[in-house]
Amino acid sequence: MAGNPPVGILALQGDVREHAALLAGLGAEVTLVRRPAELAVVDGLVIPGGESSVIDKLSRIFGMQEPIRAAIATGLPVYGTCAGLILLADEVLDGIEGQQSFGGMDVSVRRNAFGRQTESFEIGLDVPLLGDVPVHATFIRAPIVERAGDGVEVLASLPDGGIVAVRQGALLGTSFHPEVDGETRFHEMFVESVRDRAARR
Ligand code: GLN
Repeated sequence: MAGNPPVGILALQGDVREHAALLAGLGAEVTLVRRPAELAVVDGLVIPGGESSVIDKLSRIFGMQEPIRAAIATGLPVYGTCAGLILLADEVLDGIEGQQSFGGMDVSVRRNAFGRQTESFEIGLDVPLLGDVPVHATFIRAPIVERAGDGVEVLASLPDGGIVAVRQGALLGTSFHPEVDGETRFHEMFVESVRDRAARR
């Protein structure tokens, strides 16, 4: 289906603008989501990179945790980058005291997995699903997927085997930030799933 699918970006904290620009460039109708009523009208949601513990706290203050969990349970397409991936994980390792996630993906994700020595790095990453051209991936205080359940598709791993891109049903997560590199293929795949959902409504 063509058209401009309505995509929300959870805009409580993080690199919202980069996602907004990229998604608009792909023809999505972008809205910033801070309240349940704004979530109710989108057919897909991006959870940006930033600080997962802050996004978690703000989402509870804004009354967004339950609506987002409910939306995930109904199959809303959600794409989380970096902190966003942490928020989609059923289990968060090395979270701050009391840190919660929305969950939905049967993965265990460790925050800040690369330590202080390697706060950020870039790498050409093979992502077979996206074709032969490697993804230029930027990792910023990035998490790693330490466990992926049976229903989880591993889309990319680092040379040492560390899992950095996963998909489960309508949920997509990457440890890195395609939106800061002009890498559009993950977002294209996500927008396609949003179009499918919009067409079925
Ligand atoms: N370290 C951040 C966290 O724990 C994630 C960093 C990022 O999103 N670039 O949420």
